[in-house]
Amino acid sequence: MLEIQSDVEAINNISIVPKLLEVICRTTGMGFAAVARVTDEKWIACSVRDEIAFGLEPGGELQLETTICNEIRQNGNAVIIDHVTEDERFACHHTPAMYGFQSYISMPIVRKDGTFFGTLCAIDPKPAKLNTPEVIGMFTLFADLISFHLQAVSSLSETKTKLYAERETVNRQGQSNYELTKVNNQLADTQLDLENTINKLTESEAKLRQAIETGKMGTWSINLVAMKLTMSDFVKDLFGFSKNREVSLDEVMAVVDDDYRHMVQTTLNDNIQNRKPSDMEYSITNPITHEQKWVRATGRIFLNADGEPAEYSGMLMDITERKLDDIRKNDFIGMVSHELKTPLTTLTAYMQILHAKAVKGTDSFLTSSLEKANTQIKKMSSMINGFLNVSRLESGKILLHKQPFNLNELLKNMVAEMAPLVPGYSIILESHDPIFVNADSDKVANVVTNLLSNAIKYSPKGKLVIVKSSVVNNTVEVSVKDEGMGIKEKDIDRLFDRFYRVDNKHTEYISGFGIGLYLSAEIVKSHGGKIWAESQSGVGSTFYFTLPLE
Ligand code: ADP
Repeated sequence: MLEIQSDVEAINNISIVPKLLEVICRTTGMGFAAVARVTDEKWIACSVRDEIAFGLEPGGELQLETTICNEIRQNGNAVIIDHVTEDERFACHHTPAMYGFQSYISMPIVRKDGTFFGTLCAIDPKPAKLNTPEVIGMFTLFADLISFHLQAVSSLSETKTKLYAERETVNRQGQSNYELTKVNNQLADTQLDLENTINKLTESEAKLRQAIETGKMGTWSINLVAMKLTMSDFVKDLFGFSKNREVSLDEVMAVVDDDYRHMVQTTLNDNIQNRKPSDMEYSITNPITHEQKWVRATGRIFLNADGEPAEYSGMLMDITERKLDDIRKNDFIGMVSHELKTPLTTLTAYMQILHAKAVKGTDSFLTSSLEKANTQIKKMSSMINGFLNVSRLESGKILLHKQPFNLNELLKNMVAEMAPLVPGYSIILESHDPIFVNADSDKVANVVTNLLSNAIKYSPKGKLVIVKSSVVNNTVEVSVKDEGMGIKEKDIDRLFDRFYRVDNKHTEYISGFGIGLYLSAEIVKSHGGKIWAESQSGVGSTFYFTLPLE
């Protein structure tokens, strides 16, 4: 049906058709002329000239079987009837009877490809002189003309379709051309970026190399698949290996000093196995120069594309100067502390004798002054002991004298000793059941003293300090909780560093050197325990340490 409709439209698009129909009517004197589309099912009027009120309009339909055009479609021959009544063949034909015409002419319209389109026909109730060469010629010509125009219309629409398709393709090509250009530009940009990045990389690699060289540093790397060691020239030079030869891990270990070899080997193995980063300080003796050097080696694991460990590598720094400085400093501190200790012990003894005498007398000012002096001497001697311990610790001279003792008994005594020295504070011990540990009781006492004196030092008067101990898994956990100024998150991890003090307006006027917690941590660690702090600034802190229960 859609096809017929487009055929009707095609005829209507031929502007001369109405003119042709008019010419037909004029020359033949007939009252109705039409162009019809005839298929094997339908007869549809495409264009009509109706002067006799036949009643058919463009798009109107006649029943196919009632028309003569159906026969024309089948045999392709024109039908011309001048006068139906006198025509032998059509006098009794149903079509003229049905439509009431006497004259009739219908010329087939055949498309240029030979297919049947329809008819150019005319009728009239009166007879007409149609069977003449002029009329037949005219109809033939007009039918041909229509066919020609149909062809033109169809090729026009075909061209239009092609043109449209081509335009689409061109557009699409244009689009993809545009996209191609865009991608190309992006590629060019990326290339440029890449070149810039490579330049920057090369530049920063050169800078890094320069920094490494001037910073007395080198690089090292262990290929974990081949277990092959590579090291930069600086490292080779430091370890006394010639630059061009391959070096094995065993050869490196042989250069590490005896005191550290086991530690270096086990730490490295453990870190590689557990993919942990490492940071070690140890001494080596160069086999060529026999010079002792201190090095700091850092390393970490690098994974390949499949996420498998491929390399363990890092930096190696020559820290000999710093280490020797530290050693000299420690020796000096140790020496000075030791020298100060002797006169201080004598001074303490005299002060105690004086105090004992003063108590017996009536001069209360003298007694209280001597008490205060005694407290200051105690503070001074604990500071000096602290320094002495640091220097001993640093030179590896801190020795543990372990023996079993009741930890809660020790805590009870320490609280009892401390309480009268800090009037205005309440120190409470919450645990009383005996807990036996095998440890160096003097050193554990040092730790507890440090934590207790800090709890007091960093809390305002009138506050509470709670000491607790409890057994957790296979360890005893001791805690000292205060209601003091607290510690900010950023400082917590650094509290146990040597000489670290929190720097703020509250701590400005509180004396200290930042070695108490460092020493405490070293003592706890040397016992195989852990130490840590939890705190909320402005609310208070709790310091914990554990000791293993053997
Ligand atoms: P210091 O002699 O300075 O007290 P410590 O090593 O004992 O040295 O402590 C290190 C730093 O930790 C202190 O300077 C202080 O800032 C902080 N600190 C330690 N204990 C407490 C505490 N109970 N409350 C708040 N700050 C603390």
